[in-house]
Amino acid sequence: MHELSIAMSIVDIATEYAAKDNSDKVNEIEIEVGSLSGVVIEALDFAMEAAVKNSICENSKWIILEIPAKAKCDHNGKEYELDNLYAKCPHCGKYGHELIQGKELRVKSLMVD
Ligand SMILES: [Zn+2]
Repeated sequence: MHELSIAMSIVDIATEYAAKDNSDKVNEIEIEVGSLSGVVIEALDFAMEAAVKNSICENSKWIILEIPAKAKCDHNGKEYELDNLYAKCPHCGKYGHELIQGKELRVKSLMVD
């Protein structure tokens, strides 16, 4: 399961960060997931429950934020949201864009004691 290994690396990042901060408790983890990252938020949420067990994050709260994918049209430079990489520009109807956001998968912030 893809999401479980992601959840475990998130817990690793949090654990490392807390250690650097001389903390033994992580209160909150904020995670950003792009809508085209291939990560299923419900699955990640479920995987986090397993990953935090017996870790420094055991009692922490996590928030998963979905970042909508956005692209910039190659033809008219307008930005638009898209739900797949093969979407065409809603302004000019042409294909071809530069993806601006939507593939993120990162720990945005951590709160430790
Ligand atoms: Zn366009």
